[in-house]
Amino acid sequence: MITTELSNIGNIIQTQRDFFKTGKTKDVNFRIEQLKNLKQAIIEHEQSIVEALQADLHKPEVETYLTEISVIKDIDYAIKHLQNWSKPQKAAVSWDFFSYSAKIYPEPLGVVLIIGPWNYPFQLIISPLIGAIAAGNCAIIKPSEIASHTSDIIAKIIAKHFDPAYLAVVEGGVEASQKLLAEKFDHIFFTGGTAVGKIIMAAAAKYLTPVTLELGGKSPCIVDTDINLEHTVRRITWGKFINAGQTCIAPDYLLVNKTIKKDLIDGLEKSLKEFYGENPASSPDYARIISEKHFERLVSFLKDGKVVIGGENQPSERYIAPTLIDNVSLEDSVMQEEIFGPILPIIEYTDIAEAIALINSRPKPLALYFFSQDKNLQKRVLQETSSGGVCINDTVMQVGVSSLPFGGVGDSGIGNYHGKASFDTFSHKKSVLQNSFWLDLKWRYAPYEGKLPLIKKLLG
Ligand code: NAD
Repeated sequence: MITTELSNIGNIIQTQRDFFKTGKTKDVNFRIEQLKNLKQAIIEHEQSIVEALQADLHKPEVETYLTEISVIKDIDYAIKHLQNWSKPQKAAVSWDFFSYSAKIYPEPLGVVLIIGPWNYPFQLIISPLIGAIAAGNCAIIKPSEIASHTSDIIAKIIAKHFDPAYLAVVEGGVEASQKLLAEKFDHIFFTGGTAVGKIIMAAAAKYLTPVTLELGGKSPCIVDTDINLEHTVRRITWGKFINAGQTCIAPDYLLVNKTIKKDLIDGLEKSLKEFYGENPASSPDYARIISEKHFERLVSFLKDGKVVIGGENQPSERYIAPTLIDNVSLEDSVMQEEIFGPILPIIEYTDIAEAIALINSRPKPLALYFFSQDKNLQKRVLQETSSGGVCINDTVMQVGVSSLPFGGVGDSGIGNYHGKASFDTFSHKKSVLQNSFWLDLKWRYAPYEGKLPLIKKLLG
């Protein structure tokens, strides 16, 4: 394990501050070089990354490529657009500013801190890191201690390919996190649960450090009758049970039009068999629960409602079968907290207004899914609900579109990233107004006598 001594954290930050001051990271070519370095480093360690995720989450190799190593695509995207993103943008000025020109200069923030979770432990560290590098920052990275193998491989990759004065990894749990949070950073980018998000924000407030909080919550999935059932069940099955449901934007619960509920349950049963066979425990394509603690928490949900599919579990393997629960009440614990596992409760509605009211009675979710071809209903759901993002007639895929900012709202988070949004998150937009010397009208200078009529006219 390549671990930075916790007592050394202050020194590392100071070294990074000194490096930042040299101005090296302000050079866009330097940043592009570093992004290329990062890509090369990931490619070089592909196999170790696959193995680490297998050890942490029993993550199937295909899922590791699809959802973790795929971060390489984000590096390519940043390299392709970086020259353009980092150029000063001309800003318009009104006619009364005719002798001025205005520009917005994106500038790096300095030394930033990135704290990651365990569920997509590689991607959710590297993806914000791409933004930090692209925008010209130095970064300290704290991966999740719970996905310890992935934390180790991230530490190895960064230590081998980058100067710690530029990028450094601090491994460890709450203690490491708290030691880091006691220091001043220029931005903190945190991905994790809402409760810890509040701790991060409180710590950041001490230094007025800006934060991006990528949090979780209960993302609803509404299913109307006007759908292609076969496509719908497959897309829900995939989005819910990939990584054994340990996905921040997995559909947390289904809100199903009563008239289609039975067909939907039958369809989900069929697609689960298609994906994972008769016994998902022996499928090579089905992940495991990250820890005993989370396993216990999830198993306790199985007493809520009526299990209609799945429910089997094996503590020794931290295996929980893909599970559907019907007849749940909103007071059940499975409907009170984010599930974050392979358990999908089903709630029926008669009219879409009920589904919308239920969503609006709860904290704003990170994602909202709506399956329906009815354009009016689509419009209504979009207008009458608020969520970090929405995906219509699919699940989870919104996270893969670089042109869409990704983030929450309300309890599901503050700020966003991906593509240009990552660059913006890690940049300060410096407004620069420039005047010239060829003219100096005196209307704004004292003495003011006789100038009021002109000022009133200018104000229109
Ligand atoms: P977590 O909040 O427990 O931990 C996240 C990080 O915070 C870890 O690195 C951990 O070491 C650190 N941490 C934990 N307790 C801390 C404390 N008291 N003080 C300081 N730091 C502390 O989250 P998790 O269990 O790793 O991840 C699951 C949560 O993350 C879920 O709620 C999920 O929805 C959310 N999540 C959100 C996104 C997103 O993109 N919005 C992505 C993945 C996960």
